[in-house]
Amino acid sequence: MALLQISEPGQSPNPHQRRLAVGIDLGTTHSLVATVRHGVAECLPDAQGRVLLPSVVAYPAGGGRRIGWAALQGADGNDAANTVASAKRLMGRAMADITHRDQLPYALADRPGMVAIVTAQGEKSPVEVSAEILATLRQRAEDTLGDELYGAVITVPAYFDDAQRQATKDAAQLAGLNVLRLINEPTAAAIAYGLDRAAEGVYAVYDLGGGTFDISILRLTQGVFEVIATGGDSALGGDDYDHALAAWIQARTGAHPDSAEARATLLQAARTAKEALSATEKVAIQAEQVGAKAGFDLTRADFEAATAALTERSLAAVRRALADARLAPQDVQGVVMVGGSTRMPQVRRAVAGLFGREPLTNLNPDEVVALGAAVQANQLAGNPAAGGAEDLLLLDVIPLSLGIETMGGLVERIVPRNQTIPTAMAQDFTTYKDGQTALALHVVQGERDLVQDCRSLARFELRGIPPMAAGAARIRVTFSVDADGLLTVSAREQTSGAEAQIDVKPSYGLSDEQIARMLQDSFSTAQADMAARALVEARVEADRMLLATQSALAADGALLSAGERVSIDALMHALRDTAASSPDAAAIDAATEALAKGTEAFAAARMNAGIQKALAGKAVDTL
Ligand code: ADP
Ligand code: MG
Repeated sequence: MALLQISEPGQSPNPHQRRLAVGIDLGTTHSLVATVRHGVAECLPDAQGRVLLPSVVAYPAGGGRRIGWAALQGADGNDAANTVASAKRLMGRAMADITHRDQLPYALADRPGMVAIVTAQGEKSPVEVSAEILATLRQRAEDTLGDELYGAVITVPAYFDDAQRQATKDAAQLAGLNVLRLINEPTAAAIAYGLDRAAEGVYAVYDLGGGTFDISILRLTQGVFEVIATGGDSALGGDDYDHALAAWIQARTGAHPDSAEARATLLQAARTAKEALSATEKVAIQAEQVGAKAGFDLTRADFEAATAALTERSLAAVRRALADARLAPQDVQGVVMVGGSTRMPQVRRAVAGLFGREPLTNLNPDEVVALGAAVQANQLAGNPAAGGAEDLLLLDVIPLSLGIETMGGLVERIVPRNQTIPTAMAQDFTTYKDGQTALALHVVQGERDLVQDCRSLARFELRGIPPMAAGAARIRVTFSVDADGLLTVSAREQTSGAEAQIDVKPSYGLSDEQIARMLQDSFSTAQADMAARALVEARVEADRMLLATQSALAADGALLSAGERVSIDALMHALRDTAASSPDAAAIDAATEALAKGTEAFAAARMNAGIQKALAGKAVDTL
């Protein structure tokens, strides 16, 4: 018999056949594409030698579309209303999720699930806009590499929820890309820095980009990264520094730009000045740039004073993430800086101050995410590793706990918050009523004990459970979260094999402010939640006891004397009253206990009768 051939670990089956795989950083401000060539990850430039592609698409009234640098000219002034920038902040978001609407130069339309952008060429979904950017990068890569791509790894902010990740995947599909995996931006940066070959311990990745801030705390053990906490603020980035500086300039000059174009010009001037101030102490502001009567010199100190609160906001998020991981700043042995905004000296200073060590800044902060994604893509395509970084295993975490609703509107947590993914966790549940043949499953997300305080993700039903006594059925509910953070919930009744499942793709996103608020709520209300949970549990148990007693009475009431029956009825009556009116879990528990005690003799009598019946049956069969 012929032997099957198995290739050596780390070697592709055919060493001459490389699959072209790229990493794409789909950024709020800029996007990049990178690949591993000759064992090294590198960003691919366009025909003009530029690696950055502005994440901007223009839909001018005359038709056609301009993407990247060509579109940016429109954003500068003459066609801001038809020039879509920062579409990433709209991905997978409903109108209600968007807090920065008044800062946008284009109009939004409220559409179910996700907003649309109103342009001279009609409404455009943020997914379509992102797809234009991805398709441009795909084309660039195929032109450079001379062949079709096998697939791409695309990065997303750590706080992107299911809807935002799904929207990103949809955009990739529209762009004709095969998505090998979505990975978190800070996680990609860790790969680019090759931290897997560094000393074991805890590392932090601080990513301040154009529109988002992400902090990730990673633990490295035996060459394996585990993301032990994530945090951040998806509404904090370099854009906010631009706006803060523009506001400061307005206050300083008393000028008030009155058109969208004038505002865009001022904003661009603020941004140019901000970027220059990372390298120099002082820049000259021209009068016409900012719509003022006279120009003036802007110092770095002025800029830092105008924006210090923004830097402090990022530090607050870092402290929260450290607290989540139960770590102190000095437990972190290396800090990686990612994102163009980490070029600002004030940001580097603040981060160094918090951690008590200088952050790592030797790689280009614009490129690290794309480079790390390229290394990961190369690996997923089965190509030999870049720079010997083999067997890199990445684990991400889920930001909020996942669970299901149980009787009384309580939440049973199945996957705890900060659990690493991919993961599958299961728990057994049972029926509540005798003869129950279906189960309604309600999937929720959040840290609170009551369903009403959590976010509803999905509902589905499991049918075809064989009729059994309450509590006899065993229904295993499994939550699996894949490597992209997408959730599948399945339920399976163990004896019949009846099964049902649902993929959770929520129709709208959850902003990180909402996540932060839900976490805050769970901390501040833990005490009240515990009391509420105890009360609900007591009521559910009381109902269950009443139901069981009732069905026992219906079946075997004849076994009781009139006196016994009266006393059981009285106990049931008392329990029903207490459960309905008392806010005290202990009182309800006591009444339940009393009914259980009061029916002990009845239960024994039923058992004896049952045994006699069984024996009688046997006698017929066997004698
Ligand atoms: P994103 O990942 O959100 O697209 P990037 O990492 O590309 O963002 O960072 C873009 C941001 O970095 C912009 O706000 C830009 O103004 C800012 N930036 C770029 N260069 C500098 C610099 N030299 N000094 C300060 N900020 C900079
Ligand atoms: Mg970025």
